[in-house]
Amino acid sequence: MCDHCLKHGTAGKWYLNAKFYSDELAEELDLKEFLLEQYKTFEAMQVRKFGGFSAVGMGYKRQMPIIGRIVKHTAEKMLHSKKPSRNPFKAEGHIGQVVPLDDAIAILETCIPENSLIMKYCMCRYMHKGEKEACCINFGIMSEIIDKLPRFIPEPEDSKFRLTKEEAIEKFTEFNKKGYIGTIWYGAYPYINNLCACQTPMCAGFRPRTEFGIKSIFKAEYVVENNPNNCQGCKRCITMCQFGAIEFDDKTKRAVIDQSKCYGCGNCLLVCRFEALNLVTRKEIPALAGDY
Ligand code: SF4
Ligand code: SF4
Ligand code: SF4
Repeated sequence: MCDHCLKHGTAGKWYLNAKFYSDELAEELDLKEFLLEQYKTFEAMQVRKFGGFSAVGMGYKRQMPIIGRIVKHTAEKMLHSKKPSRNPFKAEGHIGQVVPLDDAIAILETCIPENSLIMKYCMCRYMHKGEKEACCINFGIMSEIIDKLPRFIPEPEDSKFRLTKEEAIEKFTEFNKKGYIGTIWYGAYPYINNLCACQTPMCAGFRPRTEFGIKSIFKAEYVVENNPNNCQGCKRCITMCQFGAIEFDDKTKRAVIDQSKCYGCGNCLLVCRFEALNLVTRKEIPALAGDY
């Protein structure tokens, strides 16, 4: 976790601090034009270059001992930047964290300004698969510029795109049950304006992390724990995990968790009918404390 989050989060949860969602902060940072430009040219903004390094052949570059370290350092410096973002073509200060459903609901209920919720098309899925799926929840000044970004607005027959808090909670719960990973993002630091429902490998936020070991997103404040006595071996949880953290043990006929792979999204809990899984606080497990 970054120093800022450790210092300023609410019990480590930086995303439960309402001031990072405020219109005043967006105005102070002069983000309206910046975000409009960024979303108008979203494809160009994609993380195609880290410093001078093209993202093409990144797997190969990351394997090189010196170049690999430079690429990782440069990419993380850009994504974790705390300087005011001035270049809408760079993903500076765009860092996020996985949030399970309860925390996402707390964000929606307590932090987000009233009447500013919208749901728009996910650009990662669009660029990766050519599919338009409305599952990005935005708020704050995004709701003021969305009318100028018609290609992000879901078609009327698809869904309603301006949401009440209750509708947003309902939608987000639906996404989690489908197995999408809840994530919350600075965009740009320290203004928070995205609550996303992501899938790997489409998500441009997860790919640098899962494929190249670049910390583009942090694991959640939680990790899953299982109670083997309750497990009935139905395997439903295994199909929900996008990180391969759950396996089936043929000998015991039960699910086994590899906590070092768990991102703490909580989606596996949503499908377990036998109360065999629960989330525990990451920092209370000595072997995982600090493993964000
Ligand atoms: S971060 Fe997630 S929901 Fe947001 S645009 Fe990317 S994949 Fe879609
Ligand atoms: S969903 Fe629950 S009962 Fe089924 S395998 Fe997973 S932990 Fe066991
Ligand atoms: S094991 Fe961890 S990462 Fe996988 S679905 Fe469960 S909470 Fe999410």
